[in-house]
Amino acid sequence: MVYHDLTVVGGGPAGLTAAIYANRAAVDAVTVESGSWGGQISQSDLVDNYPGIENVSGFDLGIRMHDHAEHLGAAFAQDTVHGLAYDPETQLFLVEGASDTYQSRAVVLATGGTPRPAGFEGEEEFRGRGVSYCATCDGMFYRDKVTYVVGGGNTACEEADFLSRICSKVVMVVRKDHLRAQASLVERVELNPKVEVRYRCAIAKLEGDGLPESITLRDTETGELERVEHGAGTFGVFVFIGTVPASGLVEGLAELNGNGEVVTGADMSTSTPGLFVAGDVRQTPLRQVVTAAADGAVAANSAALFLGNLVI
Ligand SMILES: Cc1cc2nc3c(=O)[nH]c(=O)nc-3n(C[C@H](O)[C@H](O)[C@H](O)COP(=O)(O)OP(=O)(O)OC[C@H]3O[C@@H](n4cnc5c(N)ncnc54)[C@H](O)[C@@H]3O)c2cc1C
Repeated sequence: MVYHDLTVVGGGPAGLTAAIYANRAAVDAVTVESGSWGGQISQSDLVDNYPGIENVSGFDLGIRMHDHAEHLGAAFAQDTVHGLAYDPETQLFLVEGASDTYQSRAVVLATGGTPRPAGFEGEEEFRGRGVSYCATCDGMFYRDKVTYVVGGGNTACEEADFLSRICSKVVMVVRKDHLRAQASLVERVELNPKVEVRYRCAIAKLEGDGLPESITLRDTETGELERVEHGAGTFGVFVFIGTVPASGLVEGLAELNGNGEVVTGADMSTSTPGLFVAGDVRQTPLRQVVTAAADGAVAANSAALFLGNLVI
């Protein structure tokens, strides 16, 4: 068992910013990450909306955040956290990892989320063999092929634009009659000759033997079905309809809303003293790197105040 005053769970933009701000407040902290540093943004080919850094790849941005925190002296652990307990008597948290147990007086939970499945028939069957949730990771498998992008938000527009540089054609499948993205992104896909936007449309099913061979689209207003035969290995589906918050660790310790997002105060506090929650895992109107980083800064500041490292 290792002891630090603060344990940060998650090494995405929220967790890494918390690590930087905790370090600047002289808090003894460790940041625990199960996968690659940078979290979800590592999957993005291009980030051009983080202030001060133009045209950076998501992978590089994540690494830069990690290296920045490391340069300031932050401590890290590569581990998967599978349990979080709080003892009201000792007022200590036990963060149970696969390799170690981390004891601390405060915790910042910054576990983000995982891609939300679209729910069409065949999605699970063809996951990783025609159905993907990461264009940067899998886009190259569809060079000069047709891809379908499910979703109409910022990420769907960005990733459709990225895929259009690799694929012969990108069909955006949008349930509503409009895109729900920033105006510049909407313009980018609407003016892109390789992107076709199908409004009031959803994927009903994928069918095939081993690999998807056909796709059936459904008109979300009339219910009318349209089956398109592509042939095995000639097309793919990318799903970008948001994330499922990774909030399971704080069930019973913090309030969750109907979507499983953690409800926090403006200072990122929860109903458990010393437990703060930051980034995509919490209830928030915008899920972006800049908002996750801001949450991480506020959470670390609140933890420092809680621990007595900062006085106001
Ligand atoms: C494809 C894609 C493109 C995007 N493009 C942009 C963009 O251009 N601009 C922008 O601003 N935003 C973009 N976003 C959104 C942005 O990536 C997220 O809003 C941001 O990463 C959220 O940061 P976070 O730290 O809250 O969570 P995450 O990035 O999800 O990080 C959470 C981290 O916690 C770790 N973790 C989870 N559970 C555990 C556990 N039990 N134990 C240990 N570690 C754990 C995860 O491995 C992960 O590294 C994009 C997202 C995607 C998926």
